[in-house]
Amino acid sequence: MNAAPSFAFDSPEEAIDALARRLGTTGIQQVELSESHDPTRSLHRRVLASPIFADRDSPAADVSAMDGYAIRESDLLKEGPIEVTGESVPGSPPPPESVTGVNRIFTGAIIPDGCDRVIQREHTDETTAASPPDSSSLGQIQWTDKAKTIPSGANIRRQGENLSAGSTAIKAGLELTSPRLAALTNFGIQLVDLHAPVRVAVLTTGDELASATNSDQSPLPPWKIRNSNASALLGLLTNQPWIDCAPPMHAIDEPAALLTAVQYAIEHHDVVLMTGGVSMGDYDYVPRILREAGAEIVFHKLPLRPGKPILGAVHQSESKSTLILGLPGNPVSATMGARRFAMPLIRKLAGMTNWEELPPLVMLEEVGEKTLPLNWLRGVRMTRPGLAALVIGKGSGDVATLAATDGFIEMPPHANHAGPWPYFAW
Ligand code: AMP
Ligand code: MG
Repeated sequence: MNAAPSFAFDSPEEAIDALARRLGTTGIQQVELSESHDPTRSLHRRVLASPIFADRDSPAADVSAMDGYAIRESDLLKEGPIEVTGESVPGSPPPPESVTGVNRIFTGAIIPDGCDRVIQREHTDETTAASPPDSSSLGQIQWTDKAKTIPSGANIRRQGENLSAGSTAIKAGLELTSPRLAALTNFGIQLVDLHAPVRVAVLTTGDELASATNSDQSPLPPWKIRNSNASALLGLLTNQPWIDCAPPMHAIDEPAALLTAVQYAIEHHDVVLMTGGVSMGDYDYVPRILREAGAEIVFHKLPLRPGKPILGAVHQSESKSTLILGLPGNPVSATMGARRFAMPLIRKLAGMTNWEELPPLVMLEEVGEKTLPLNWLRGVRMTRPGLAALVIGKGSGDVATLAATDGFIEMPPHANHAGPWPYFAW
């Protein structure tokens, strides 16, 4: 009996970690925000390289949390009708403390000096005055019994209670999501340090690709195939503001041509995603060429289906470290491999401190009897929140069935129960 094959790593997780340890982050770009500048355009989902600090207290002063009346305790002793002598409105400085009556106040407006609570409008009787004493009057009110129970400090948002001036509002290494853009604008930030987008090259290989010979033969002869891997990989990489994806490149199965393409891709990019040429066939030159290009092969082959021949490598130069993934050419292996291995590592290079994936867990509707002694990536369709159905294709060349999936789950070796399993959405 053959001995069980030995792999450098037992799981995708360990293989990803081994590559991550060898990778740095991209450099820093400074972006200046002018008054007229729309920060959402240039900053949305970019990765912050330095923390954002609060330029002033939040809130900047004691403000009202309600529409009502800002008062001192002694105002509650006034027997109605009580004259409304002024108003504190958002956007204006507060009126002076009222001696003879009370000040009306609106949500977000500043608490006048000397006041210690806000009585909500609904706890007052505002209909007491049938005819106001004069036309400039702001009205009259009377306290309800409920108003007299409102304690000191009620309905006031205290200066600095959210954050005090000088403290960290957003940590470095986070993506500028919509709430973070709001925080950044709230604190008047004018200069932002961002990580440069990760430059990613997609390099497909193989003589069978129609584009390899610029074939315009029509119809396509059956011995030629279309470059579906380039589309799959670009589909994962485009529209991520932290990725700068180059137009796809292709190399034929010829060592010299492949070496030239690999060297160029490594020199000008932070990540090189290759498909094809990593198996044991006579034309599978990728491992040898990567060694010639000076890359360290961190692993070649993992206990994985689909995608067992996958190769992970890192090229170190004085200026940068470049991640290279050699994905098998079979479309299902290439697409799942790019999603599972490349995406978290690109997040790491992009400067995200939370680059490691926390995939949601899903249960399978039905699981079947079959098990594998491998980590098994299985295409699924989501049917209900937290529930998925397996989408079973004809193998790793079956793009048509893959197109029916929403993502895939990952099962460890020998597993055959319904889950919950980590789910990787496309
Ligand atoms: P390879 O890993 O180079 O042995 O390729 C395995 C199989 O994947 C080939 O027989 C092709 O049918 C297919 N293949 C390779 N490259 C691509 C590609 N870029 N797009 C679609 N299919 C591909
Ligand atoms: Mg090939």
